[in-house]
Amino acid sequence: MKIAILGEIHKDGLDFIASEKVKIINVNNFEKKNLVKKLSVVDGIVIRTANLKSDILSHCNNLKIVSRHGVGYDNIDLDYLNENKIPLAITGQSNAISVAEHVMTMMLTLSKNIFASDNLVRSNDFNKKSELPDFYELYKKKILILGFGRIGQALAKRCLGFEMDVYVFDPYINNEIISSRNCKPINKLDGYKIADYISIHLPLNESTKNLISFNEFKLFKKNLILINTARGGIVDEVALYESLKKNEIFAAGLDVFNEEPPKKNNVLFNLNNIILTPHNSALTIECRKRMAIESCQNVVYYLKKDKSLNIKNIINLKKINY
Ligand code: NAD
Repeated sequence: MKIAILGEIHKDGLDFIASEKVKIINVNNFEKKNLVKKLSVVDGIVIRTANLKSDILSHCNNLKIVSRHGVGYDNIDLDYLNENKIPLAITGQSNAISVAEHVMTMMLTLSKNIFASDNLVRSNDFNKKSELPDFYELYKKKILILGFGRIGQALAKRCLGFEMDVYVFDPYINNEIISSRNCKPINKLDGYKIADYISIHLPLNESTKNLISFNEFKLFKKNLILINTARGGIVDEVALYESLKKNEIFAAGLDVFNEEPPKKNNVLFNLNNIILTPHNSALTIECRKRMAIESCQNVVYYLKKDKSLNIKNIINLKKINY
């Protein structure tokens, strides 16, 4: 039994595979020729961010499972896996807390004007603190959470801890479930109009591309802080830039971009009312360990038909008739 690891993962995951006496093939060169050669013999693949499309998958003659180190899977050709009845697993239990904490960090840093305050002290302008722009509390503010899955729910708990009013838009989740978590279901447009904060936690697909664009920015309050840690492309970056530049909204935080990494001359870099992080909201040390172990367990347990497999992690169960 052989498992390929595409990209580097925390050692704890590799140790788990080794403890199960399964052979590991580390792959860090993602050129097609190398991938085809290395992957044609493996039974399972653990994958971080490399692309795994049908041109490669069609050469994986022994492949029985693909396990994504993370929860998004837009780098993998799901249609191909479905057609060939190959399961795709994700690390559903691993990263919600880490991403939710990242959102809180962005919300607090932007609300409290932390960068400007820090600058003041470093530039010996301590006594000019009254000249700093206004800054705010989260207490009693309204947050709209778009998408109430694993991360949206983890974020809601944290916002409730700060005594915020938590509004949720997720058409696929029953309103009773939202209310039972002390949150308020709301339709998208009403939510846009009342929110002091918006945080996005839904997948990127045809219907969510540019979900937030020029028309939506027109509806937002002037004090809005918009956070996107989900996927680049859900927020229209041009519209975001225009809105921040004209101070139509207060600030934004992005962990994800249209193009990753963004180009050196990306205009967002010129703004000081935005925080940018390099798609690392799920990369705390705790989260990396959890993702490594969970992604490796998904493959090994599936291949060994071990009942410890968390079946909820397989996202295409129905399509593959498992
Ligand atoms: P999830 O599948 O648990 O939840 C997604 C939720 O979005 C679901 O409840 C679904 O009903 C809802 N949804 C789908 N379409 C919607 C729409 N049009 N409007 C409103 N709600 C909609 O996913 P998750 O684990 O919470 O992840 C959420 C997002 O975060 C995904 O895009 C994922 O790729 C991204 N993510 C990013 C990082 C990072 O490192 N920045 C890490 C993990 C996840």
